[in-house]
Amino acid sequence: MSVVGFDIGNLQSVIAVARNRGIDIVTNEVSNRATPTMISFGKNQRYIGESAKTQELSNFKNTVAAIKRLIGRSYDEPEVQEFEAQFIGCKLCDVSGEAGVEVNYLGKPTKFSATQLYAMYLGKLRDTTAKELGGAMSDVVISVPGWYTDRQRRAVLQASEIAGLNCLRVLNDNTAAALGYGITKSDLPEDKARNVVFVDLGHSSFTVSVVAFKKGELKVKSVAYDRGVGGRNFDQALLDHFVAVFDEKYKLDIKSSSKAQVRLRAACEKLKKVLSANSQAPITVENLMNDVDASAMYSRDEFVELIEPLLKKLEQPIQKAISDANISSDEIYSIELVGGCIRIPAVKQRLGEFFGRDLSYTLNQEEAVARGCALQCAIASPAFRVREFSINDIIAHPIRFKWEAVGGSDDTGLDVFVHNNPIPSTKMLTFYRKEPFVIEAEYSDPANLPRGTNSWISRFDIKDVVPTETGDYSTIKVKARLDLSGVLTITSAYTVAEVEVEEPVPQPEPKEGEEPKAPEMRKVKKLVKQAELTVLQASQCLDGGKLSGLAKGEREMHDADELVGATEIAKNSLEEYIYDIRSKVEYDYKDFVEPNEQKEFLETLMSTEDWLYDEGDDTTKDAYLERLAGLKAIGEPIAERYREDKERPIAARELR
Ligand code: ATP
Ligand code: MG
Repeated sequence: MSVVGFDIGNLQSVIAVARNRGIDIVTNEVSNRATPTMISFGKNQRYIGESAKTQELSNFKNTVAAIKRLIGRSYDEPEVQEFEAQFIGCKLCDVSGEAGVEVNYLGKPTKFSATQLYAMYLGKLRDTTAKELGGAMSDVVISVPGWYTDRQRRAVLQASEIAGLNCLRVLNDNTAAALGYGITKSDLPEDKARNVVFVDLGHSSFTVSVVAFKKGELKVKSVAYDRGVGGRNFDQALLDHFVAVFDEKYKLDIKSSSKAQVRLRAACEKLKKVLSANSQAPITVENLMNDVDASAMYSRDEFVELIEPLLKKLEQPIQKAISDANISSDEIYSIELVGGCIRIPAVKQRLGEFFGRDLSYTLNQEEAVARGCALQCAIASPAFRVREFSINDIIAHPIRFKWEAVGGSDDTGLDVFVHNNPIPSTKMLTFYRKEPFVIEAEYSDPANLPRGTNSWISRFDIKDVVPTETGDYSTIKVKARLDLSGVLTITSAYTVAEVEVEEPVPQPEPKEGEEPKAPEMRKVKKLVKQAELTVLQASQCLDGGKLSGLAKGEREMHDADELVGATEIAKNSLEEYIYDIRSKVEYDYKDFVEPNEQKEFLETLMSTEDWLYDEGDDTTKDAYLERLAGLKAIGEPIAERYREDKERPIAARELR
C-alpha cells in the first residue's frame, strides 16, 4: 500500500512518500530530488523529465514545458495564445477542444492534448516512485494551484486515470504546505486560532494564503494569487534585456531565431540564480547565433531595477489575502515562505517590507508542497495511521446556478457557492417543476479567472420530472456538491411530498422518583423523499468514454519507450561483450582455444562489430540478443576452460 504525494510544478516536480517513520523525498534516476516538468518527443521515443531537459536545447521544437498552465484550458484563450506560448518551444494547437501541442513524434506530426501530456508526465513520476517502492503504486494526492477551475481539476483527475493512478484528491498547493506545517506542531492552541501566512513564489505564479491553525485542524481563511509573477517572468525580463544588449554589441537579431532564444533563456535562468548569491556575475552563451560567443557582466543591482515592475506586483495579493481573512497584521503569528524564487534577496526584502516584519524560512522551500500531499494521502488512506488532522480548504471562484423561470416567477438563479467557499461543501436546493428542467452552473466572477476562460462549468439535466397526482408542481430537492478536490457535481435529485405522520411528542425527562408518563402521539406534516430523478451532467472536460482509449494509447507509448530502452541495453551488452571477449581470446584465453577456433571466433567478432555499425545500428532487441547468444555459445566454453584451470589449483590448495 503506497502513500504518495506529487507536487507538480511548472518547472519541476517533487515526489514524496509517507512511511511510518516520516516523509521521504523520492530521488529520480539521476539522484535529483526534483524532476523537470518537461516532455520531449523524438524519432524513436518520448523523453520525460531529466532526459527531456537534456534534449531541450537541441530538440526545442518538440519539447513541451508549461504543461501545468495548459491543462484544462482552450487553445483560443488569449492567456494561452499570448502569454503561455512565449514559454513553449513547440507548436500549440487545439486538440478536441483543449489546448495541446503538435510535435514530431516517431517521425510524424502528432497532436497531444494537455491532459494527455500531463498523463505522460504522471506516468514518469509513477515509474520513478514504483522503482523506489519496489512495487506498483496507485494512490496519490496531486498538488494544483488554488486558482485551477473545475475544468482544470477534472482534467488532472482524468490525466491520473489515463496514467493508471488513483488520485484520492487534488490539493491546493499552499494548503499542502500548511498541512505539513501544522501536523508537525505540537503546540497549536486549543481555542484562539494561530494565523499563519503561506507565501509561494514558484516558477510561474505567486500565491498567498492565510491559514488558521488550532489543535488538530487547519482552516484556510483566504487565498490570493498573481498568475503573472514567478521565476519564468524574471527570466523573461532578463531575456528581453539581453536580446537588446547583444543586438547592440554583436548585431544579432535573436528574436528571429527560436533556437538562440531558447539558449539565451537558459543562460538567463542561470544568471538569475547566480545573482542570488553574488553581487555580480557574467552571462555567457557560446555560439549564441551566427557563430558569435556572446557574453556580458551583470550586477544584482541592475537585476533588481529590471524586475522592479514584477516585485511591485507582489504587494496586491498580500493585501487581498489579509483583508479577505479579516485579520490585522498583528494577528499574524508567522509568515512561512516556499517556492524557488524565495531565494532571490530582493524578493525576501520586498516581502519583508510589505509585511512589515520578519519572515520565516522553516519549511523546506522546494519540498513542502510534496510533503503535504503525501501527508494528505496518508490521512485519506485507511491502511495508514496518522495523527488526526482536519483540513478545511476553500475554493477561489464563486459558482452560480442558473435556470429558466417557470409559472411567471422571476426566479432564475442563485449564488450557490460563494467566494472562498469551504470544500467539501453540500448545498440543498428546492425547485417546483412539472417537467424536466436544466440547471447551468457558471463562475460568477469571470474577471478573476485566467483571462479568456469560459465561465461556464456544467449543464445538469434533471430528468423524469412529472406533475403531482393533483397536477401541481412537484417539489424537487437537488443536492449540489463541491467535493474534496473542488469539483462540482449534483450528487442527487429527488421529489419530495408532504406526508402526515404520527410521532411521539417529546417529553421532559421525568424527575427523580416520578413515573414516566405514557407516550403521547401527535400528527405532523413532513417532507418525505418520493422518487429519485436521473441527473445528466455535461462539462467541458474530456468525454469519460474516451478515457479508456487514451489510457490504452498511453500504455502503448509507454511500452514502446520501454522497448526502446531495453533495445538500447541489449545493443550495449552486445557491444561490450565483443570488446571484452576479443581481448581475452587474444591474450588470457589463448592457451585454452585451438588456433583455428581462435581465428574463426575473432573473425566472427569482427563481422558482428561491422554489422553493429552498419545494418545492426538500428534493429530489434531480439536481433541483438540473438547475436549475443550466438557469440556466447562460442565464447563461454572457452572462458569455462580457462576458469576451471585457474580454479583447480586454488581448490586443491584449499583442500590441503
Ligand atoms: P510553480 O509552483 O509556479 O508551478 P515550480 O513549483 O516548478 O513552479 P519552484 O520549484 O518553486 O517552481 O521554483 C522554481 C523557480 O525558482 C525557477 O524559476 C528557478 O529558476 C527559481 N530558483 C531556484 N533557485 C533559485 C535561486 N537560487 N535564485 C533565484 N531563483 C531560483
Ligand atoms: Mg510550486
